[in-house]
Amino acid sequence: MSAATATPRTNLLGLSREQMEAFFVSLGEKKFRAAQVMKWIHQEGCDDFESMTNLSKPLRARLAEHAEIRGPSVVYEGTSSDGTRKWVLEVEDGSYVETVLIPADSGSRRTLCVSSQVGCSLDCSFCSTGKQGFQRNLTSAEIIGQVWVAQQRAGGRMSAPDGRRAITNVVMMGMGEPLLNYDNVVPSMKLMLDDNAYGLSKRRVTLSTSGVVPMIDKLGDDIDVSLAISLHAANDELRNELVPLNRKYNIEKLLDACKRYLAKCGDARHITIEYTLIKDVNDQQAHAQELIALLDDLPCKINLIPFNPFPHSGYEKPSRNQVMRFQSWLYELGHTAMVRTTRGDDIDAACGQLVGRVKDRTRRHERYIQSIQLDAD
Ligand code: SAH
Ligand code: SF4
Repeated sequence: MSAATATPRTNLLGLSREQMEAFFVSLGEKKFRAAQVMKWIHQEGCDDFESMTNLSKPLRARLAEHAEIRGPSVVYEGTSSDGTRKWVLEVEDGSYVETVLIPADSGSRRTLCVSSQVGCSLDCSFCSTGKQGFQRNLTSAEIIGQVWVAQQRAGGRMSAPDGRRAITNVVMMGMGEPLLNYDNVVPSMKLMLDDNAYGLSKRRVTLSTSGVVPMIDKLGDDIDVSLAISLHAANDELRNELVPLNRKYNIEKLLDACKRYLAKCGDARHITIEYTLIKDVNDQQAHAQELIALLDDLPCKINLIPFNPFPHSGYEKPSRNQVMRFQSWLYELGHTAMVRTTRGDDIDAACGQLVGRVKDRTRRHERYIQSIQLDAD
């Protein structure tokens, strides 16, 4: 057969269990092969069929003909002085995406922060990813590929007993808005949960969204994972400014969707509310009061993220004291909040600093640069 007529080989890396079973059925094989091959790929880090010794030789040969296991390649690997590790990965079209492994101070938790898109179309005013514009959605192989690579590089298996896992938690909080890449994000998250792949519990896999309301409803129907909401403001006027998507789905609609999501989860769960503290923008006592009043009837935990500055953002980081004051105002109002300390600063691995290489299709980056130049004139 000439190269022009050859059917492309299926990349098995990004297939969920259902998709993998359908693939084996399409080859005229039994469904249970799916679980065997998933274990090789995700638990053993295998990328060739020849080493899959519990498959017959003829089956291995057929797989090599029809399929492949292709992950992103690592172009940079760095470890911060605080132990945070970052990998810059090259994906299909030469774009770069970043994934970051953050060890908790206590040492027991190792959280991988995964990207879902190259760039982001949503343009939150304080986010450097948003400022770069949007190039494309990552495929499910490129999303789970970040976990696959990090697990191999960090040494260890996620399926191992708890204490020995290289990665104990995954958060979809890297570049991009995961709910705008739903069809690729959901199969990847299914692999994170699947016992034949990474076997994480649903409490340890978190999707973070800026509030794509209809997709929050759909998510609740399709998969059970933890949900984090990037709120950042407790009134629509301010949130419209920080998170432009709020003009489409306002705070009331967003919190209603959160309640519907929790109702579907079944067991006692909470939503994580992310609140990026920006100096003199949303870090005053009145903001704390408004936030607590707003969240009154939502089971939730609040994470405070001090703004991570980037050039020309126009915003400033609040002082350490101000962050602590804000935290204590929440406490006085009956809410404990975690402060997410900035990790990996020295390797540019902090929230909102994941840069990657984005060939902006929206021309937003160009407009942004022009606006900076106008400001400077
Ligand atoms: N698009 C999704 C997930 C990626 S952003 C979302 O918005 O939720 C992950 C988190 O980083 C979000 O809570 C986002 O608000 C926060 N973030 C973005 N830029 C930041 C910055 N410069 N400083 C601090 N946090 C930031
Ligand atoms: Fe996109 Fe999230 Fe950044 Fe907003 S905060 S621009 S939704 S990545």
